[in-house]
Amino acid sequence: MYIFVINSGSSSIKYQLWDFPSGKIKLKGLAERIGSPDGKISQKGEQTWEIKGKFENHKSTLELILNNLWDKETGVMNSPDEIGAVGHRVVHGGEKFTDSVEVDEDVIKKIEEMCAIAPLHNPPNLEGIKAIKNILPKVPNVAFFDTAFHQTMEPHSYRYAINESFYAESGIRKYGFHGTSHQYLMIKASELLDIPTNEFNGVTCHLGNGSSLCSIKNGCSIDTSMGFTPLQGLMMGTRSGDIDPGVLFHLLRNNPQLTIDKLDDLLNKKSGILSIYEKSNDMRDVEENMDTDPKAMLAFRMFCHRITVYLGGYLALLPEVHAIIFSGGIGENSPLVREEVMKNFAKFGIQIDSVKNRELKRGETGNIASESSEVAVLVIPTDEEGKIARDTWDIVYSK
Ligand code: ADP
Repeated sequence: MYIFVINSGSSSIKYQLWDFPSGKIKLKGLAERIGSPDGKISQKGEQTWEIKGKFENHKSTLELILNNLWDKETGVMNSPDEIGAVGHRVVHGGEKFTDSVEVDEDVIKKIEEMCAIAPLHNPPNLEGIKAIKNILPKVPNVAFFDTAFHQTMEPHSYRYAINESFYAESGIRKYGFHGTSHQYLMIKASELLDIPTNEFNGVTCHLGNGSSLCSIKNGCSIDTSMGFTPLQGLMMGTRSGDIDPGVLFHLLRNNPQLTIDKLDDLLNKKSGILSIYEKSNDMRDVEENMDTDPKAMLAFRMFCHRITVYLGGYLALLPEVHAIIFSGGIGENSPLVREEVMKNFAKFGIQIDSVKNRELKRGETGNIASESSEVAVLVIPTDEEGKIARDTWDIVYSK
């Protein structure tokens, strides 16, 4: 039996095929620039192929990908019936979803309602769900919300200090994102340290092109750095993260040519590491050049400074701390970032062993804390799609 996992973006679809009950991944793929003449689909694993061309929309792209899976000559399965369920990543579940759910008409209606507060993300997620329902009408679909894990935050964490009517009437509050990753990391860390999940306290640092921290008490999110949108919090690859909202008023008042859409684009796509280093948004390029290029050095220092400030605050919220967990493309692969952040916490009894930190291999899980550290410092590769695949299997077939 196969579980198909999809992450459907505005012009892209990331997908994976998993085999159950073995729990092994069979293949993964990415369709890019859907709707443009220079579209591309590439797939790797037990069936590898790549094609370029114009892929009209999400439905026709998914049809092409799925038809290939049961192609008579090259396919990995004999018929569509071998797909047991589909797991969908959905960005915004608002306050309506505190956990993953099997998709029915009511769930679709609620995700549609959430489009008002997630206009960029929820519509393409929904398009993916609707396309699969159309192509595989009998197959159950499960939705996983990036916001769900953070629904345990209390009002003093999630409310903004603005009039209550904005919250009550328009849902303006902190929601938080990367929930599947933070939850996965928390479960893995509690397994590694042999602590029951509902007793685990720690801070998860998901540091990738998009980055967020999460403070976790008794296995539940109590605060996280992303907010109403994924723009709040840390400095990211191309997102500004925290910025004084007064700057936005100033910019809009003083630049008649700057529209709201341009400002949105500026803060989401042209800021963060890219705006400081200027040559790239990739931490690898920053690290390679920071000894000779002051802009790269500034980008590195700003990135680590912001993590340090959030990490310090998030540790302070906890009654005791079992672990700090690093993950995401940067958290998993950059000993330099881990060292720069963690050196600030040695005075609080949390130390890393610099040899263990440097020698931990790519893709490996490990505890890089020194022998004397009072808190474990774990590096755990995140696995959002794997978690979605396993949970989809559990939800649909272990009922
Ligand atoms: P996304 O948020 O898009 O899922 P990832 O978690 O895949 O991002 O992280 C991508 C980022 O990880 C890249 O932009 C790059 O900056 C960083 N990265 C990957 N490998 C390394 C490395 N060896 N050293 C430093 N940074 C790395």
